[in-house]
Amino acid sequence: MSGAITPPAAIAFIGLGKMGVPMAARLVGAGFALRGWDLAPPARLAAAAAGIPLAAAAAEACREAAAVITMLPDGKAVRAALEDPAVAASLTPETLVIDMSSSDPLATRDLHAALAARGIALVDAPVSGGVARAIDGTLAIMAGGEAAAIDRAEALFAAMGKHVFRCGPPGAGHAMKALNNYVSAAGLVAAIEAVAVGARFGLDPATMVDVLNASTGRNNSTEVKLKQHILSGGFGSGFSIGLMAKDLATAGALADGIGVDAPLAAEMARRWRAAADELGAGADHTAIAKVILPAG
Ligand code: NAD
Repeated sequence: MSGAITPPAAIAFIGLGKMGVPMAARLVGAGFALRGWDLAPPARLAAAAAGIPLAAAAAEACREAAAVITMLPDGKAVRAALEDPAVAASLTPETLVIDMSSSDPLATRDLHAALAARGIALVDAPVSGGVARAIDGTLAIMAGGEAAAIDRAEALFAAMGKHVFRCGPPGAGHAMKALNNYVSAAGLVAAIEAVAVGARFGLDPATMVDVLNASTGRNNSTEVKLKQHILSGGFGSGFSIGLMAKDLATAGALADGIGVDAPLAAEMARRWRAAADELGAGADHTAIAKVILPAG
């Protein structure tokens, strides 16, 4: 393992979607020699238009990169990307792999062990804050892995995030992220249900949000989602319902897998899966209001 990764080190960035593009742009802005890659040609076009330098293939991005960062839909996609034979051949014990996707923590432990067997360090470092905070570089980053490996990534994290939390051993970041999204999703559903009940009773939804935000019912969703993305009818937060349903399945499976009874987490996993099936995985996650609020 080598030392701290600082500009102008070469960085491979795999996964140039809604979050990947602004995160990669922050690294470019910080002076890293970034080479991006995404499986989907439209994503590559959008990334190029946003000024992200592209590689001709994933393995080309990874070759001689000091760090390989993945920002993919889930842990299965991360494993598929890293186990591509040409990509696998390009990773060496000098490479630090950083999975910033919201992946399954138990699978991350396995991936950590598989890479460690080849002398390659993996840090799990999922993020919270959404597209807006990815753009301004103020994400919350939840890191799991060996302290020395996290130390190497500090300059990368500083370019993308405001708060870096060292959550514990491999997989701890991913466990924290799934549990954060469980709490966030439950808060959103609670707020939407309150608005549904209040509106039927005759309360004005916008006034309800103002009262919640000045009262103990306030949460992140009442502050930045209810008026902005739901009451406005815009449904454009930039985080899809399919990915949220995946995070809740991860949180539920984590509780089950380690034998903790968490019935509300199980109920949230069920509700969000049903809403994603009904609305389509690509719908914005705030559109869950459409299946909770009465029409009109
Ligand atoms: P997205 O669907 O916009 O982007 C994912 C990208 O990965 C797509 O462009 C897809 O083509 C690409 N991809 C899939 N498999 C690939 C592979 N094997 N190789 C290369 N590219 C591949 O998703 P997003 O909203 O950017 O989210 C990315 C991750 O971040 C997810 O795990 C999500 O749960 C998490 N996350 C999202 C938000 C948000 O607000 N959008 C916030 C925090 C965390």
